[in-house]
Order: sequence, then structure tokens, then C-alpha cells
Amino acid sequence: MPELPEVETIQRYLSLHLVKEKIDTLKINWAGSVIVTEPANISLLHNQRVQAICRRGKYLLCELDDFDLVIHLRMTGQIHFNPAKPPKDHVHWVLKLSDDKYVYYRDVRKFGRLYLTLKGQGLAISGAKKIGPEPWEIDLKYWQDKLKSKRSIKGLILDQQVIAGIGNIYADEALYLAKIHPETQSNNISEEKATELLKAIRTVLDNGIRYGGTSFRDYIGGDGKKGDMQAHLQVYQKAGQSCPNCGEVITRIKVGGRSSHFCPSCQHI
Ligand SMILES: [Zn+2]
Repeated sequence: MPELPEVETIQRYLSLHLVKEKIDTLKINWAGSVIVTEPANISLLHNQRVQAICRRGKYLLCELDDFDLVIHLRMTGQIHFNPAKPPKDHVHWVLKLSDDKYVYYRDVRKFGRLYLTLKGQGLAISGAKKIGPEPWEIDLKYWQDKLKSKRSIKGLILDQQVIAGIGNIYADEALYLAKIHPETQSNNISEEKATELLKAIRTVLDNGIRYGGTSFRDYIGGDGKKGDMQAHLQVYQKAGQSCPNCGEVITRIKVGGRSSHFCPSCQHI
């Protein structure tokens, strides 16, 4: 599932290639994938210019002259920008640009959504407004305050309203780096450990962006290529393998219904 680094990778690519392009048409193949608030008729997107492309949490915001276009990839959403061959199946919408370039949205599981709204309203209508601060914007006071919770630390850092953009991959990697057991109750984490965890979260996300995201199954960057971060993961989906730090066998347990990978020797409650 695309998390912050994967969406950031797509955002950076599309920023280079889509900004200042003009839209010709939006063709919708499956109506369930698009939620339209405005414009009343999607033909009004014709000649709208792309002004900027930004990311907020796991959401992509494409600002047009008069409208916002927000993409949430959810489980298996993929953006194919001007591929040599168009994807054959599961394409739910296609954006045609005035210079004959194309953006294809492909989504096998069909959970992803495209939101169309008036300019300035995209993040509010898509639900992105409810999400917490970006990991690099968090100060220690906010962080320590959130960690006063009795929830497991794994559940807490997956909560988009606490911190934006983290999913299962980067949560497991950050907890490993900070040497914190995923079942640790958040309010039992010391101030020093809390600081370490925030730093670890930023480090694993930075690495994810640096390597163009993690590709296990569906994720591809805007250029159609897979990311490389899977080669740099320490514990995620490595149950049964040796911990790179101590050699202990990496274990998988369920925490709050989510698979969690950790080293029982390095990570403590
Ligand atoms: Zn270990």
C-alpha cells in the first residue's frame, strides 16, 4: 500500500511533468472511482491548467486554475504518466492533456478515489483535512503529548490523525530503528525514547523517498518504475530471517489487527 514516501515519489515526478500542462479531457471508465463535487460537468475541465502538485499525508493534490483534483491511491492505485504502452486493464479514469500526453489511473482493488472540487476545497472534501501534521513539522511538545495515550505505539503511529503518512512498512521500520517493541503502551515510552522514535520515523521516511518508495506488489512511481526501498528494509516482511543488528530471528505478531515485524532481542517494551 502506498505510504508517504511512495506518494511523495509520485508527487515529485508529476510536478516535473504535469505542472503548466493543460487538460483536454477526463474520461471516466468506472464512476465509482471518482467523487465529483464541482464542476457540475466534467467537460468544464477542458483547458484548465495544472498550477501545482502537492502531497498531504498519502493524498496527492493537483491544483488547477479553478478546481482541485485530489488522488488517494489507497491499496493498489497506480498512476501511469504517458507510458509507452497504456495499461490494459483496471483503468478507471484517463486524463488527456492538450499536448497528447496521458495520465492513466489503474487500480485492481478499486479502493482508490479521485475527488474533484472547487479550488481550495480538495483537501477538505477528500478527508485529508482531518489528518495530523507531516512528520517533519512535529515538535517535541506535540509528540510527547500524543504519546500520553494508553494505545500501543504501533497503533498510535499508524493513526493518520496523530501523524500523517505512515503505514505498516514504515511503522515497523521506525520502531526497529528506535528499538521499541510494537506492543509498547505509548505512555510508557520515555521522553528520550520518544525523541528517538520521531527521529527514526523521519529517517525511514527520508530513506523511502531517497530510494523511490517500496515496491512489493503494485506500487510504481510516476515514471512507471518500481521503487528500491524494499532492498533496504530491516524487518518488514522478514519474519524468520536474522536481525541485521543482533542475529536473533525476526518475529511477526498482530498488533491491533496489523501484522508487525520486529526483533525480540533489540526491541523492548
Ligand atoms: Zn536484533
